[in-house]
Amino acid sequence: MDVVPLDPALVERISAVVDATADEIVAFTSELIRIPTVNPPGEEYETCARFIGDTLKRFDFEVQYVAAEGHPDHTAAHPRVNVIGRRQGRHPHPLVHLNGHFDVVPAGEGWTVDPFGGLVRDGKVYGRGACDMKAGIAAGLFAAEVLRRAGIELPGTIEVSGTVDEESGGLAGVKYLADTQWIAKDKTDFVIIPEPLDVDRVCIGHRGVYWFEVEAHGRIGHGSMPFLGASAIEGMSRFQALVEEQLKPKLAGRLTDVPVVPPGARHATINTNGIQGGQPVDGVQTPCVADHCRAIFDRRFLLEEGLEFTKDEIAALVNEARRLVPDIRFEVHDRLIVHPTRTPDDSPIIPALTGAIQRVLGRQASLIASPGTYDHKHVAKIAGVPHCVAYGPGELVLAHQPDEYCGIADLVAATKVIAIASLELMQGAARA
Ligand SMILES: [Zn+2]
Repeated sequence: MDVVPLDPALVERISAVVDATADEIVAFTSELIRIPTVNPPGEEYETCARFIGDTLKRFDFEVQYVAAEGHPDHTAAHPRVNVIGRRQGRHPHPLVHLNGHFDVVPAGEGWTVDPFGGLVRDGKVYGRGACDMKAGIAAGLFAAEVLRRAGIELPGTIEVSGTVDEESGGLAGVKYLADTQWIAKDKTDFVIIPEPLDVDRVCIGHRGVYWFEVEAHGRIGHGSMPFLGASAIEGMSRFQALVEEQLKPKLAGRLTDVPVVPPGARHATINTNGIQGGQPVDGVQTPCVADHCRAIFDRRFLLEEGLEFTKDEIAALVNEARRLVPDIRFEVHDRLIVHPTRTPDDSPIIPALTGAIQRVLGRQASLIASPGTYDHKHVAKIAGVPHCVAYGPGELVLAHQPDEYCGIADLVAATKVIAIASLELMQGAARA
């Protein structure tokens, strides 16, 4: 399946319509920022879904609301409501789906502007979620709309969705849409997720995640005679020492072929997320040997390592700790597993976006992969749609920061790129 580049005159026409629509795109982004969809706990999701849905209806989409029925986080106080708009052209396929999460992380400290004010100043839209990723939702929605305003009959179908909970794993959001076949292999040909990854970079996947808990059981004893007990904290320290001295040097020596940014994240990594043992430090103290200690580890693994190898390596390290401190009983529990994903090298979605970036920005796009994860995993692993990338407006380094913003020039450029790439994808496959 090839991508046939659009006629230059058509590219011009689309660009001109986006430029003429710029104020409306910015105003829509500001409006979205003013709905404080903070996660946790998942505030104002339904309001935001309705706002996106109403806009999609105005733009002639068929709109469906998909609540995550049966999901434990979908409650009366904080309903998990997703929205999907669909506009079919000449054919049901190729179908291009533009997905953005509308939840945002809490504002946090250090803002000099109202995080939920949607301020527009000096060519930037400010607010929590401005770049991650309400500007992206605006870019996707208006990319679809400008094709209509430019009078282009769609060769295929375009869908625009706004989904919940990406910041907490996307289980009631994109995963739910994949589980319930709203996004599915037979239905969906291409997915673009306009996450903020810089306007000239296309993101082709992410590393894997293995969160595990190590639990150390010792034996309580009098603190004045610690030799009569077995300290679970000391046991955990031995395990930590193995992580530092044996595992970390190995991880630092492994490098993936996938272009993960920043370069430090091209290696396998491990972090201790939390540790808890013995008596609460702020509580009343008694002289006791700690009989219990738990720690949560965040291991980011490479496509080349794979999950099985990663888990076996941790299991071997725990066995080594068992051998060194036989008094302590160690257990390992899986807490979270995300497989690494990568868009196939020959996927037409990559040249569609890189080609459109070249035409809009006049410079070569780079391919990157994300150090963390995002909803790509649900699209690839659950829906079974391999042709997925993340591409959107906003700078990656501004996500989750105080005074988060998206540059209006980026927003406009990304809208053009997504519109051009989507139309090419709908046309290219139709001809194959
Ligand atoms: Zn995001």
